[in-house]
Amino acid sequence: MKIQFLGVHNCETATTRLVSILVDDVLALDAGGLTSSLTIDAQLGLKAVLLTHPHYDHIRDIPALGMNALFYKTSISVYAIQEVRDALAAHWLNGTTYVSFLEKPPESPRINFTAIEPNNAFAINCYEILPAPVNHTVPTVGYQVAHPDGKTLFYTGDTGPGLAGSWPYVSPQLLIIETTAPNRYEDFGRRALHLTPSLLKEELLAFQKAKGYLPEVSVVHMNPKQEKEIEAEVEQVSKELDTSITLAHEGLVIKL
Ligand SMILES: [Zn+2]
Ligand SMILES: [Zn+2]
Repeated sequence: MKIQFLGVHNCETATTRLVSILVDDVLALDAGGLTSSLTIDAQLGLKAVLLTHPHYDHIRDIPALGMNALFYKTSISVYAIQEVRDALAAHWLNGTTYVSFLEKPPESPRINFTAIEPNNAFAINCYEILPAPVNHTVPTVGYQVAHPDGKTLFYTGDTGPGLAGSWPYVSPQLLIIETTAPNRYEDFGRRALHLTPSLLKEELLAFQKAKGYLPEVSVVHMNPKQEKEIEAEVEQVSKELDTSITLAHEGLVIKL
């Protein structure tokens, strides 16, 4: 699998994009930085966009994808839990803020939404997808993406501490996990349900205990203002656990 990091931050600037990860040019995980990263041909080549939760920084480009689909007379397939559809329909694709692409045109809406259930695996092309619940302030699922050649990744989306319940169900070679803030924000992490490097370490130790190994780890959803601090602390965790844990960056490609 080719994993391309289009956006890896929680704030957007000229040099940082909101989280979006592209798998083999056909699956997009979250839509924070899709339309600003991809040519129109690449957008139209997407087989599916998988959304983790209804927060702005993860669904931001869905209206823009809908508008491009309109002009190219096609539709974009989006998969997520029902709560994401409800948020899009209520706040953005509501006929006021933007066109109701979830419903128009009725025979083939520009955003072709499929509601998925946590823990119920489904297939898109050759990929087996497993949505696994994680621990965030709103209902959120991470996605395990498994290729028939045996390569598997798990992307958590936004999550706080408490992933132990998910680990029995996933077995990734690559774990893409959030780490939003440095260690001095641990109280914030526990309250707002995000990870810091020390909280990440606890989650990885729980993973190791449950699974007997540690995957390669790519960290995303960093706050750009605190990224240097996060990077130094993640490097320390990587040394302590004796495994590869690195911050992803926009444009990074990992071949799995
Ligand atoms: Zn969130
Ligand atoms: Zn977020």
